[in-house]
Amino acid sequence: MQRYQMYIDGQWVDSAGGEGLDSTDPYTGETWAVIPAGTASDADRAVDAARRAMTTGPWATLSASQRGGFLRRVADLITANADRLANIEVRDNGKLLAEVRGQIASVAECWYYYAGLADKVQGATIPTEKANAFAFTTREPIGVVAALTAWNSPLWFATVKAAPAMAAGCAVVVKPSEFASASTLELTRLVEQAGVPAGVFNVVTGLGADVGSALVDHPDVAKIAFTGSDATGIRIYQSAAKSLKRVALELGGKSPTIVFDDADLDLAATGVMSGIFGAAGQMCAAGSRLLVHTSVKDKLLAKLIDLASDIRMGDPRDPRTNVGPISTPPQYQKVLDYLEIARADGARCVLGGKPATGPDLGAGQFVEPTILVDVRNDMRIAQEEVFGPILSVIEFADEDEAVRLANEIPYGLVAGVWTSNIARGLRMSKALQVGTVWINTYRTYSYMVPFGGTKRSGLGREHGIEAIDEYLETRSVVVSTDDGPPVNPFVMR
Ligand code: NAD
Repeated sequence: MQRYQMYIDGQWVDSAGGEGLDSTDPYTGETWAVIPAGTASDADRAVDAARRAMTTGPWATLSASQRGGFLRRVADLITANADRLANIEVRDNGKLLAEVRGQIASVAECWYYYAGLADKVQGATIPTEKANAFAFTTREPIGVVAALTAWNSPLWFATVKAAPAMAAGCAVVVKPSEFASASTLELTRLVEQAGVPAGVFNVVTGLGADVGSALVDHPDVAKIAFTGSDATGIRIYQSAAKSLKRVALELGGKSPTIVFDDADLDLAATGVMSGIFGAAGQMCAAGSRLLVHTSVKDKLLAKLIDLASDIRMGDPRDPRTNVGPISTPPQYQKVLDYLEIARADGARCVLGGKPATGPDLGAGQFVEPTILVDVRNDMRIAQEEVFGPILSVIEFADEDEAVRLANEIPYGLVAGVWTSNIARGLRMSKALQVGTVWINTYRTYSYMVPFGGTKRSGLGREHGIEAIDEYLETRSVVVSTDDGPPVNPFVMR
């Protein structure tokens, strides 16, 4: 059994309460690690260390290029340890090893990317209407950042928050999901090895309601960067409002994959399948609503059923596996509950629809890839996030109806569009109320391309150059070029 400690102010420590939480491999069912159950006093110590590191500590006095150098060393070490990190993450959340390996290569690249961006942050000189004033802006680190992350891609989420925040000159306290903290703690060893000064990168583990909410309420936290459910995100937003903390929220979705009658249906079927059955549908960007033109519905459905029937479920470490287990017991229960809700509301199952069984499934909790028809867009199964392998199929008659159905939803994270008409693809990209539109592709993420939601899917953007703005505040400086006093000190200049 592996026993992890947290990392606060450059020290590996147990939780103040001395309690621990089990980490369980979703495929084998084996409890393989214990992580500290952090408390409010651990959150306090971590925030205090972060505040000192970025105000009086070395992080404040280093040049931006030097800060970038530390990030580059973290990236080098991630590259050297990629395989170990990938295996640990898979042990924690049951995602396919092949996919996590690819993600970790991007994680390393992302640290390099923000390392390079650190010394390209610039203010501006501003012409003003005043004759005797010279004005310029500087970009200042926003303050201590609390990064709260979900269990489905912990290393990715920690990276896309911590790397731009540290490049901006902030210090961070990461709080990974209690279901999958180990890979973040392993990344932390590399941050330590890279020589990042104490207090700049801290990790506290434990329950959201204990250590997570203590970070959210902490007066010295300036910014909360959160990835998780909309319910938790809204609670965090409300708490943060009390002290006007800055908040970035990457939340859930109920994303449409939209297939027009002029689409390449083989391409579309593969894309739709990848969008909902990849990672067993446990992705914020899951394409859980298939909107399909009436004239191609039967043909596309036949192709989809054909493809999905061949999905091989099993050990996420086995390269032959396509789909791994549902990661956590509450998530498994939620998926089964939604199957019942959908049936009770009148949806009809044309594929799957129940827990999967078989010799290759270890001790994992698997759900069969499921396709539901006779779904109306106003049913709960079409409006609420499941975070599992359930696809709801809804027909449309023309482009206007496709747009209406796609947008009639509280969420707005991503959308996929399949069409051979580029003009239509561009029209759709304008009309869809989402943060990302993928055209003739799906799940094509890049740390260089801004990502985030509209509506109930969140606030702010991660990835890309603009992500660093989430961790900077503009300061305006106005300097008098007059030697003498003002003509009338009681009248504004
Ligand atoms: P969650 O909201 O239950 O937990 C997310 C994090 O918040 C965890 O670290 C948790 O411990 C913490 N937390 C929980 N309650 C808290 C509180 N009161 N105060 C402070 N922190 C608290 O989400 P989850 O089940 O871990 O993740 C699944 C959800 O995440 C899905 O809704 C999914 O769509 C969303 N998600 C979004 C994105 C995105 O980029 N938009 C990516 C992945 C997952």
